[in-house]
Amino acid sequence: MTGAETYDAVVVGASFAGLAAAGQLAGSGRVLLADREPIGAGETSACGTPLAVLERLDAGDALEQVCPEVVINVGDRPVRFRPSRPFATFDYATLCGILASRLEEVETAVAPFRGIADDGALLLGERRVRAEVVIDASGWRRVVARALGAPAADRGHLSAGVETRAARGGCALEFWLRPPGLAKGVHWAFPGGDHSREGSASYVGETRGLRSDLAGFEGVDEFPPRAVHGGCFPSRLGPAVWDRLFVVGDAAGQCLPLTGEGVRPALVFGQEAGRQARAVLLGAQTLEAALSRYRERVERARRAYAALERFQFCTIRWPLGVVGPAVRASSWEPLSRRLESVYWHLADPATLEVAPGTRGHNTLADGCCETGPAVASRTERPTPPWPVLAPSPARSDHGHPSACGCDEPDHCSARPPRGRVRANAAEARR
Ligand SMILES: Cc1cc2nc3c(=O)[nH]c(=O)nc-3n(C[C@H](O)[C@H](O)[C@H](O)COP(=O)(O)OP(=O)(O)OC[C@H]3O[C@@H](n4cnc5c(N)ncnc54)[C@H](O)[C@@H]3O)c2cc1C
Repeated sequence: MTGAETYDAVVVGASFAGLAAAGQLAGSGRVLLADREPIGAGETSACGTPLAVLERLDAGDALEQVCPEVVINVGDRPVRFRPSRPFATFDYATLCGILASRLEEVETAVAPFRGIADDGALLLGERRVRAEVVIDASGWRRVVARALGAPAADRGHLSAGVETRAARGGCALEFWLRPPGLAKGVHWAFPGGDHSREGSASYVGETRGLRSDLAGFEGVDEFPPRAVHGGCFPSRLGPAVWDRLFVVGDAAGQCLPLTGEGVRPALVFGQEAGRQARAVLLGAQTLEAALSRYRERVERARRAYAALERFQFCTIRWPLGVVGPAVRASSWEPLSRRLESVYWHLADPATLEVAPGTRGHNTLADGCCETGPAVASRTERPTPPWPVLAPSPARSDHGHPSACGCDEPDHCSARPPRGRVRANAAEARR
């Protein structure tokens, strides 16, 4: 058996959490970032996040569309929220590319984690690798932590989602709570400038029937090849540290329960783990101190996570006649502002850095429905990046994106998508 290669730090998983952690480690030693797929290839997310995340990361090129309003439909009634910080959608591959381009001196590898050898070396593809600092950013399967004896994510606290793209416009991030046929789940439609990402999720991790539920939502009999993607996301905070391992993002259950917002926490906590680990590589603290500081930071959010978990529990178990008024009550501005401040504080985008010690202060135009550079660069590509469903007249009635009431009627829900994606939709129809 060949000897193991030695690194100062190894990060397993190169999506939001892994890229954020590796960004903090860049330039502090010999660092390896490994993923089973090329960086930016394995999108699962609907890619909705606070606009402030893109601003703080100086990642405006990934912006697809600003969505100042969040609409939650319960039964037939839409409840409208205008958060103090607007949300936005972004292009997954572009954001990953931006973060990866900043990984000075970090070695990246397409190498699936296969386990841990008897002598403690990590098995990454055909390689055997050792490092003082190891960060598990492998998503809900938490493959490294499990190889070290951590329990698998509890099925009862995993949500499952599938998603497709439809040639439709819209202004708001829109949800349909417990729509017909999906009693413990949610539909969503997130406008991405030239299309809308639309999906179905089960809060209880039920994967059977999700794809056909989505087909029903879209009013199609079947999907073209490659038109549906999906995955699981946790709804309970797990251990942030296992043995001498940092666990970040979905691997540590950091996706927020109820809302399923996992990108922001993966980036914020990923950077926090990377920051603490960097200090180890630079000789400023011991690994034990770094693990303990990282764990403490995550634990500060535990009560708020637990509250969101309870809200999720009630949302799927209480009668709709109770859930509807509760959602409406939470849109009352003094209350919604208070809830919001706790919600933002859980994983505050203001802590994000472009590079260690460098805060981004980019300000992006936040006008209603403002589309970003990612949309323009897509329409310039010779080949459409993915199939987009043509609008179907048979789409469920409850699925129409609602008008946001902004002053830009051309930008609002009736807005047809433009350019290449429209052509792409015609191809998908054929
Ligand atoms: C359908 C859907 C829609 C969603 N929409 C949103 C949204 O709009 N906004 C939002 O904030 N959150 C959303 N989420 C949640 C969000 O996607 C996750 O919380 C987020 O992706 C977590 O980031 P992560 O880096 O921890 O894990 P992931 O993004 O899951 O990345 C894990 C990485 O580890 C790699 N990996 C896995 N196994 C191995 C292995 N054995 N060896 C090497 N590498 C491995 C994977 O290839 C991947 O790159 C959505 C989730 C789903 C399923």
